[in-house]
Amino acid sequence: MIFGGLERFTLIDYPGKTACMVYTIGCNFHCPYCHNPELVNETVEITYTEKEIFDFLDERKKMIDGVVITGGEPTIHKDLVAFIKKIKQKGFLVKLDSNGTNPEMMKEMLEKKLVDYIAMDIKSPLSMYSKIVSRPVDIEKIKRSIKLIMKSQIDYEFRTTIVKSLLSPEDLEEIGREIKGAKNYYLQKFVSTKILNPQFQKKVTYSNEEFENFRNKLSKYVQNCGIR
Ligand code: SF4
Repeated sequence: MIFGGLERFTLIDYPGKTACMVYTIGCNFHCPYCHNPELVNETVEITYTEKEIFDFLDERKKMIDGVVITGGEPTIHKDLVAFIKKIKQKGFLVKLDSNGTNPEMMKEMLEKKLVDYIAMDIKSPLSMYSKIVSRPVDIEKIKRSIKLIMKSQIDYEFRTTIVKSLLSPEDLEEIGREIKGAKNYYLQKFVSTKILNPQFQKKVTYSNEEFENFRNKLSKYVQNCGIR
């Protein structure tokens, strides 16, 4: 595989662990608020080979607990499973960030115990997905991924980036119903920095107080609801 980024150290992207992050190139969604346009548009200037990633991991073995694999959307790459297998053989924990469009690959990874933590984006209520991500979506796949993750024995989180003009309080409550019983759900404030659709630069998220209200409401559906 070829990678579009390597973050050498992070304390915040793998809950409770020290990690590095590798970024895969390409995505099957086109979320207007995406913070990684160069990965989605496949215009990254600096890339890394698998060998470079593994050489780096060999150097860092004693300094980090895990590897976060993010994107783009990692699961669009057929050779991702083989890549993760090699990381596990080196003794690292693996966290996968995914939009949930490839439940078949996720199932294989869970059955083979290749992932230790999954963070899946929940873009919107299921009925609104295509509109939010600007791509056709097989919603059955999203549903299967949610079920698979919730039935798994590993740590996981669902998370939603919230742009006020895209998601209403009722939409958020609908998401709560659709992931009812989940262990962790995070409400993420949209931050207008470098994003995929420049027209979204001026969009805003809700106030801190409104986020607290959402958290209170959604806490009745999930075991832990946090704000980021
Ligand atoms: S936010 Fe995630 S799913 Fe959406 S376009 Fe960006 S990388 Fe793809």
